[in-house]
Amino acid sequence: MIFDADVIVVGAGPAGLMMAGDLASAGVSCALLERRTERSGLTRALVVHARTLEELDARGMADELVASGTPLPELRLFSSAALDLSRLPSRFPYLLVTPQYKTERVLEERASRMGADVRYGHEVTGLTQHPGGVEVKVRRDGHPDQVLRAGWIVGTDGMRSTVRQAVGLPFPGGPVVRSVMLADVRLTQPPPSALTVDSTGDSFALVAPFGDGFYRVIAWHRCDEPSEDAPVSLDEVSDVTRQAIGTDYGMHDPRWLTRFHSDERQVPRYRDGLVLLAGDAAHVHSPAGGQGMNTSIQDSANLGWKLAATIKGWAPPGLLDTYQAERHPVGRQVLRNSGALLRIALKPSPAFVGARNSLALTVTRIPFLAKRLAGAISGVSIAYPAPPGAHPLAGKRVADLRLADGRRLYEALRGGRFLLSGGPGTLPADAATGYRDRVETAPIARASTTVTLIRPDAYIAWAAPASTVTEPQIRDCLAHWCGSPARPAAQTAGQ
Ligand SMILES: Cc1cc2nc3c(=O)[nH]c(=O)nc-3n(C[C@H](O)[C@H](O)[C@H](O)COP(=O)(O)OP(=O)(O)OC[C@H]3O[C@@H](n4cnc5c(N)ncnc54)[C@H](O)[C@@H]3O)c2cc1C
Repeated sequence: MIFDADVIVVGAGPAGLMMAGDLASAGVSCALLERRTERSGLTRALVVHARTLEELDARGMADELVASGTPLPELRLFSSAALDLSRLPSRFPYLLVTPQYKTERVLEERASRMGADVRYGHEVTGLTQHPGGVEVKVRRDGHPDQVLRAGWIVGTDGMRSTVRQAVGLPFPGGPVVRSVMLADVRLTQPPPSALTVDSTGDSFALVAPFGDGFYRVIAWHRCDEPSEDAPVSLDEVSDVTRQAIGTDYGMHDPRWLTRFHSDERQVPRYRDGLVLLAGDAAHVHSPAGGQGMNTSIQDSANLGWKLAATIKGWAPPGLLDTYQAERHPVGRQVLRNSGALLRIALKPSPAFVGARNSLALTVTRIPFLAKRLAGAISGVSIAYPAPPGAHPLAGKRVADLRLADGRRLYEALRGGRFLLSGGPGTLPADAATGYRDRVETAPIARASTTVTLIRPDAYIAWAAPASTVTEPQIRDCLAHWCGSPARPAAQTAGQ
């Protein structure tokens, strides 16, 4: 089969744009097909969390995105409870409020710069897997249907994923909340805190600033759930917000009014043969906690380098399967956390609301609990399974340490390679011989008791005490994670 690209990525939302950028920057040819005819100007997500910003930092995109938004050092939960994010062990100790289209723009500019072929107005209508590759059917307005071929397909085509349906994977789960109103408005008397969330009785409302003079209001009333295509009026949003929070802050001049519903669903397998799924195509849940786009971008950060390694021919056996092993449990946990937050937010009984508000206050004031909650919401505590007996750092996110050459570690990751890192004098000079295309030796500036191998997605693959580590151990770990030292000829996709 002659391929049009090594990989076809279907859907140019946050997951697809991140995926295309990572594949292209690893030298893999990639076509990104999007059914919309132009960039989206709409915003569903407006919160980017610290771990996502770190992943963007490892690709040189974070500073531009941060400059486009408003950093909030605390997350207001219920009533007066606020979760302090300013102590997160991250270069980004806050959540960033910025419209989804700005995040997508930064991701798309990088994908195009790296050489990804981004094609708008290309709707995938079906696919067929063959032993050595995949054919996708593409519909284009005003053109005859087209068939494109690639070694691999990544479905990042959202909740109603055509790719997922074409390979026959189920999407078990169901609706959790219906007919939620969304309004982007101006406010005459904006709230004092940056993010306001509250619920009383049957009403729930959230108000958050965009940073451009507009505010996102999400409002829901238990007893008023018209069909999703019923028009929304500003009066309705204002009434429900007043019931939930006590004021509507003088909302006026809406630029977007709509309704949405949320399902909780997760696909059991993120891979079927030569087809992989990421983002909302693999998991969906309510917007509570602002996790969907963040999880989607992080799926791609996990998968991109593994798929590139497989196509380039150096992936050790089983590397691609770690995508399912690592990201499926994260998706499941996000569904649980966001589901719990939503149910707590929407409980109607006044007695429960009182208890919930005092519990939220307690949790946010006890440092240990507040730290755990901040780690979970921001994503900085996400860790991947490590084999029994592994060093405690294995599988954890790596900190942004200063390197001996003056760079930050996340700047060094922009090369897309593994980093073999340790304190001064702890790394044998020729430790990475034969791996220079995949591994950079990156000594850190200060003394350290640990030698680590850091993956391109900024997680620690392997670690060992510097006092006992031997060169053969390092070579074994490189072979385990980075394949054999002599670079083999490119593997035929799908083998
Ligand atoms: C009201 C609301 C608020 C939210 N707030 C947050 C938040 O604050 N933080 C957060 O992290 N998440 C939030 N989310 C969730 C977030 O918007 C999604 O999780 C995120 O957009 C998923 O990204 P994705 O790339 O997987 O899919 P999508 O963004 O859905 O992108 C899929 C793309 O695929 C394209 N496509 C679909 N079918 C085809 C096809 N057959 N052929 C070609 N292209 C196709 C679509 O046009 C689309 O561009 C919110 C969601 C809602 C509804």
